[in-house]
Amino acid sequence: YLQVNKLHKNFKTQQGTLVVLQDINMLIERGEFICAVGASGSGKSTLLRQIAGLDSPTTGEVKIDNQLVTGPGPDRGMVFQHYTLYPWMNVQENAEFGLKLQGLAKKERREKASHYLSVVGLSRFAKALPKELSGGMKQRVAIARALASEPKVLLMDEPFGALDVHTKEAMHGFMLDLWQRTNITVFMITHDVEEAVFLSNRIYALGARPGTVRKEIVVRLPERGHAVKRHPVFQDY
Ligand code: ATP
Ligand code: MG
Repeated sequence: YLQVNKLHKNFKTQQGTLVVLQDINMLIERGEFICAVGASGSGKSTLLRQIAGLDSPTTGEVKIDNQLVTGPGPDRGMVFQHYTLYPWMNVQENAEFGLKLQGLAKKERREKASHYLSVVGLSRFAKALPKELSGGMKQRVAIARALASEPKVLLMDEPFGALDVHTKEAMHGFMLDLWQRTNITVFMITHDVEEAVFLSNRIYALGARPGTVRKEIVVRLPERGHAVKRHPVFQDY
């Protein structure tokens, strides 16, 4: 459903060519919730940007539902670490924002955004400004905004990285519940192996150290939350 085939990504820098992603192959089925882990600088955000169509691979391809990704599109909902909400817009307006860019009529925007705000449990806060919300709530607004365009896949880049441990735990429970309720396909990136193990039953691991070959390794776990901290793949994390 979400396919990454033989993806390589290099950057030209003043020091020469920087190889960031090397022969990445992934296949995520519709309705799966899959995490990728990697240390800082291992190329996680770069990988997500190629899938989002915000940047294009040096070679290789990304396909979603058999369609080649050639640029950004509403079939991919994005959630980032720093919420990226507009501080001057209230929760409802933030949730509607992507739909506005897509040219949806006001009534339809209202209805969709309201629906997804209720899905994330924030209907009561529709008129609130982002600064009046906690970090976890802000991230739920960002999730509602991403879901409002009814994407084929939800792409998340360290979405809980800025949250304290308790909020993070609450958000993990929230995400699994949301995923089960909506059947959405989720691809999430994190540097936190335990978080990845808790949320997904299959993990893609990018090179742990800068300068190591960035090739993904698939770890299959018998179930979510399985204790794999001692798996050799995770020794470097
Ligand atoms: P973090 O955990 O810190 O977010 P990451 O795994 O997301 O790290 P990336 O942001 O994907 O890492 O960066 C991977 C490498 O590619 C880094 O060495 C970074 O400096 C380099 N890089 C990323 N984007 C560019 C660019 N546009 N031009 C040059 N180098 C880049
Ligand atoms: Mg990153």
